Amino acid sequence: MSEKEAVAVMNPESKSGVITVKNYINGQWVDSLGTNTVDVINPATEEVIAKTPLGTTGDVDRAVKASLEAFKLWRETPVIDRVQVLFKLKTLLEEHAEEIAKICTQENGKTLAESRGDVRRGIQMVETACAMPTLMMGKKSEDIAKGIDSEAIRQPMGVFTAIAPFNFPPMVPMWFWPYAVAAGNAFILKPSERVPLSQIRMFELAEKAGMPKGVLNMVHGGKEVVDALCSHPDIQGVSFVGSTPIAKHVYTLATSHGKRVQALGGAKNFMVVLPDAPMDLTVRTIVESCTGCAGQRCLAGSVVVGVDKAYDEMEAGVVKLAQSMSAGNGLSVENGIGPVISEASRKRILDLITEAEKQGAKVIVDGRPAANEGVMPEKGYFIKPTVIAGVTPSMRIAQEEVFGPVICLSKAKNLDTAVEWINSSNYANTASLFTSSGAAARKFQYAADPAMLGINIGVPAPMAFFSFGGKKDSFFGDVKAHGSSSVDFYTDTKVTITRWVSESSIW
Ligand code: NAD
Repeated sequence: MSEKEAVAVMNPESKSGVITVKNYINGQWVDSLGTNTVDVINPATEEVIAKTPLGTTGDVDRAVKASLEAFKLWRETPVIDRVQVLFKLKTLLEEHAEEIAKICTQENGKTLAESRGDVRRGIQMVETACAMPTLMMGKKSEDIAKGIDSEAIRQPMGVFTAIAPFNFPPMVPMWFWPYAVAAGNAFILKPSERVPLSQIRMFELAEKAGMPKGVLNMVHGGKEVVDALCSHPDIQGVSFVGSTPIAKHVYTLATSHGKRVQALGGAKNFMVVLPDAPMDLTVRTIVESCTGCAGQRCLAGSVVVGVDKAYDEMEAGVVKLAQSMSAGNGLSVENGIGPVISEASRKRILDLITEAEKQGAKVIVDGRPAANEGVMPEKGYFIKPTVIAGVTPSMRIAQEEVFGPVICLSKAKNLDTAVEWINSSNYANTASLFTSSGAAARKFQYAADPAMLGINIGVPAPMAFFSFGGKKDSFFGDVKAHGSSSVDFYTDTKVTITRWVSESSIW
């Protein structure tokens, strides 16, 4: 797809009609071999803005062939030259950040401010990957035995792939490919078929930045493409981000084909409020965490546990703030949230709320469309922030990922009880504690299972230079994403032990 075509797709005013996006293979935008397509729908307007082809095993074969060929030259390109492409890409991404954010809002629905954050986090990955000359340095020890030295170097491995979800279209793919290519590998990205457009724009910028043909490839599709990527003999490793059932599937299939795998799955995130929490900040942070991006973040808060006397003030504050918020088109909404991704997703969320009511919970702020006629846009998959009180551990809504703007409130008698509840969950992505006590914070950090924690922080997203990934059903694999973990994932270490025997009389 040319830059002009891309802009036409993303511009809702475009008169050129809806086009089917193309694969990017060997530096060319080419038609997919697949004949079926999935609609890319603006969730705020329900308009079809593009079509994504459901590619085939043949598309994957073409991309792998191009990647293998490109890898030969790319791995011989000095790492300081490889990262020059990323430095240029960083500049181009800054110049086009607003444009990409608008594309993201149109394909995903999140607000423009949220999309800006999404792009910003993606750019930070590029910045961190620019440090690859230092990050992938090896180690050397002399005299491991008399006159014998030993060294370990890191080498790129070949072709890697990533399979992305719908909820962070610009950012999530950048958790992977900038590091992989900076380390000297070739790469194949499969974006979410529901939101391929921002990555297409970012690939166009990567090409402009000088990414050599075949180093970076994109294949669109669904299950057939994913399974082909996970089982292709010439792919070394698979990064996946998405729901837990598919993460398990990808992990099982790709490891059975001998690949490295990092599969990041779903989540159920808890937030605990102690009576000594700074309450204004806590309430604002909770509501933003649970409803930002319409609740569609893997780090979104879901169940908020008020400990002892903290509960009443916390509930009152959350209710007031949630009631004041609106839902609308992410390009223009103020003090509010955008839609969820699809009608199917909205129905699943509404069903979870109804079931919670049947199980004894009480909806105290009702954001459902039926309760908001006249204040909710007629089109679009909107749910306003919803608050449910009396949620207990046995309820489905307390156990399953909601992925919608729903705040579940609950009580606990002390921190230990709250942590027990957190640790009984199958998921362990993130959890937060709100307190003024360092001792309580330390206890929480020590005892809570999730791998990413927040203390007075609602969305504890690690920066690009820390590792990212959960535990239990939120992560399958050994090596996490981002920063130095990426270097471990995308390189192999080679150890050489050396003895030189000198027979010269000159030296
Ligand atoms: P999803 O699992 O439906 O899709 C993710 C990817 O898997 C897509 O590219 C899709 O094409 C592919 N896929 C879907 N069904 C498949 C199948 N049967 N076989 C093979 N591949 C298949 O996830 P989603 O709805 O796009 O994203 C939301 C989920 O992602 C949530 O559960 C969220 O928590 C999770 N997520 C997790 C993290 C994290 O860091 N742990 C980050 C973002 C999102």
